[in-house]
Amino acid sequence: MATAVPAAPSERQVSPEMIAVENPATGEIIGHVPDMDAAQVADLAQRARAAQPGWEALGYDGRARVLRRMQRWLMDNADRVITTISSETGKAYEDAQIAELAYGAQAFGFWAKNARKYLADEKIRSSSVFVKGKRLILRYRPIGLVGVIGPWNYPLTNSFGDCIPALAAGNSVILKPSEYTPLTSMLMAEGLAECGLPDGVFAVATGRGPTGAAVLDEVDMVMFTGSTATGRKVGVRAAERLIPASLELGGKDPMIVLADADLERAANHAVYYSMFNAGQTCISIERCYVEAPVYDDFLARVTAKTRAIRQGVPNGPGSVDVGSLTFPPQVDTVERHVADARNRGARVLTGGHRGRDHGHWFEPTILVDVDHDMACMREETFGPTLPIMKVADAEEAIALANDSEYGLCASVFTRNISRGEALARRITAGAVTVNDALVNYTALELPMGGGKPGSGVGYRHGAGGIRKYCRQQSLLISRFHPHRDMHMHPYNARRTRLFTRALALLNRGLPNK
Ligand code: NAD
Repeated sequence: MATAVPAAPSERQVSPEMIAVENPATGEIIGHVPDMDAAQVADLAQRARAAQPGWEALGYDGRARVLRRMQRWLMDNADRVITTISSETGKAYEDAQIAELAYGAQAFGFWAKNARKYLADEKIRSSSVFVKGKRLILRYRPIGLVGVIGPWNYPLTNSFGDCIPALAAGNSVILKPSEYTPLTSMLMAEGLAECGLPDGVFAVATGRGPTGAAVLDEVDMVMFTGSTATGRKVGVRAAERLIPASLELGGKDPMIVLADADLERAANHAVYYSMFNAGQTCISIERCYVEAPVYDDFLARVTAKTRAIRQGVPNGPGSVDVGSLTFPPQVDTVERHVADARNRGARVLTGGHRGRDHGHWFEPTILVDVDHDMACMREETFGPTLPIMKVADAEEAIALANDSEYGLCASVFTRNISRGEALARRITAGAVTVNDALVNYTALELPMGGGKPGSGVGYRHGAGGIRKYCRQQSLLISRFHPHRDMHMHPYNARRTRLFTRALALLNRGLPNK
């Protein structure tokens, strides 16, 4: 298993086999991890396969005990977990606490409790005459070895988080975290070992894209979270290997504000959920459509709230509201979207610039006079920006909300709840909220996934969120039976005539007269 090697802050030159991990808020190097090759991944896979039957044999109760211990471990080690996440992502202390630590702890408890329920044998009833009197059972068996490949924006929630249901189902797991944020995953491996997870059941394969590709070549199923472009490659390779792939990809989530909305609530949501985690959330609000009568009022509120955001190097609880960007090239993407919007006639009401100090920064930014010819309204920006567009009415807003290759989440703000729900049902997205945003993700009972191919294939959470880590097995148990069934050889004309009448009766019903 990979281990973190502490590094001197200035030590940037490392061997080609090691990856330097940077604190993106300060530019300091905070550790090194191995850049694993295919042979090292194959070794992890061999150990994981050997360990899996024992883990499966522990049963739901045995596995739940380990998961519940890990739930407590997360609380006992909360500061260390938050600090590790914050230092390798640059995110605010509270962003790591609310959206990562809390999610991880909840997920351990949730899957410990619900794996048995979601994966229980199902008694099946059939209309087939051939199986009358027999027992039919649908059973979920762990698929074996699951590969989880994750992004850098939520190293605990969106990388490690998907390992929890895979483990609860009885699988071994190899996690390939982002090369930018591997330290959290390694800390989770340490915690799981302390909590009694049998050796080999969980492994972290640190490395870049080729390490992810090597994981993909070893596992029985892949759970991928990341960009749409990489997701497509992962899907192609999974298809070549004929293994199932669950793909959680990009988003460009729209928010619609109708004229009758609680504007203060809508403005608070618009700012918080576009700037939260420096805008690097797959389901962050990425574009906003506001009905004309309340547009000016909404802009004034949103601009004032955005100007009040404290951005800086996170240094413990309450120190900043928004931290740095995590992925260095993301600053260029955000800058390109803002420049493109400006060049095409948009105005910047606040922010608009990249940071010049150490680390990777972009100011919280509000853009107006935007349209769908601009990159900021079509491509995933994944930064602390919110472009806001005035619309004539709800119909225009719905049409624009649906005018995207993405469809992850969306939100509608209105005091007319039934109208809000009716509009929500017309948005093509994996999840739509009315007078809320993002918190649907914390309901682990509720499926979460792409509503359009650009945002992915498959779901996490809910029954489907653990069944995907299993193969279905159908069992048919015959207890009372003759030596020879009626339909067997030798065929004879009398029985065939009887069967013909029975077929007609079953499929046409009784004759009318
Ligand atoms: P990315 O696609 O660049 O990388 C994701 C992971 O894939 C990394 O671990 C990377 O090393 C690995 N990888 C790269 N090439 C690979 C290959 N050929 N085979 C296998 N693995 C390979 O994504 P990112 O930049 O790390 O993450 C940001 C993206 O993730 C955004 O688009 C965001 O919307 C998306 N995301 C989606 C969700 C969701 O639930 N839908 C959640 C979080 C992030």
